[in-house]
Amino acid sequence: MAERFNLDDAIRKVPDFPKKGILFYDITSVLTDPDAFRYCVDSMVKLYKGERLDAVAAIESRGFLFAAPLCDRLGLPLILVRKKGKLPGKTRSKKYALEYGEAEIEIHEADIPAGGRVLIIDDLIATGGTVKAAADILVEGGATPIGVFSVIGLPFLQYEKALAGLPVKTLIEYFGE
Ligand code: AMP
Repeated sequence: MAERFNLDDAIRKVPDFPKKGILFYDITSVLTDPDAFRYCVDSMVKLYKGERLDAVAAIESRGFLFAAPLCDRLGLPLILVRKKGKLPGKTRSKKYALEYGEAEIEIHEADIPAGGRVLIIDDLIATGGTVKAAADILVEGGATPIGVFSVIGLPFLQYEKALAGLPVKTLIEYFGE
């Protein structure tokens, strides 16, 4: 796949969703475009192939879609970060603020690799609140978050500030809503 694939064309933009004033960057249109999806997965493999990683933590639900093929390609364990109440085993959880609203996420305690280096993946990073909550759970469980991958970044919402030094890689950034 060519380096200069136009990912922007494959991302549907939906104004005023889920509420007025939010421009929603929708990746369902990436998933229905096999070239676009392959471009994303190939790009992630290139970014993380040489990185020392013990596991990938994927954020519900769209993060799962990108993390799963990366884990398959790199041979890494996939840890699910789910909304409260979805995981059946013993969990660690955290409340956090969203760009729109509040939420709580959790991870199976047994899935957190003690002393392990973990990459966190989501489809889009906005305020960074979700990723920060996931990183906090991982740290409390004894793992080390070493970075964040997100297909889309909205840097004007200052996720880098929220993540305090955790390196963030994205495939495309947008600078307004
Ligand atoms: P945040 O915690 O603010 O970084 O929000 C990130 C989470 O909310 C991700 O799981 C995104 O899928 C979702 N999200 C937030 N803002 C948007 C947006 N403008 N378009 C699409 N998804 C969004």
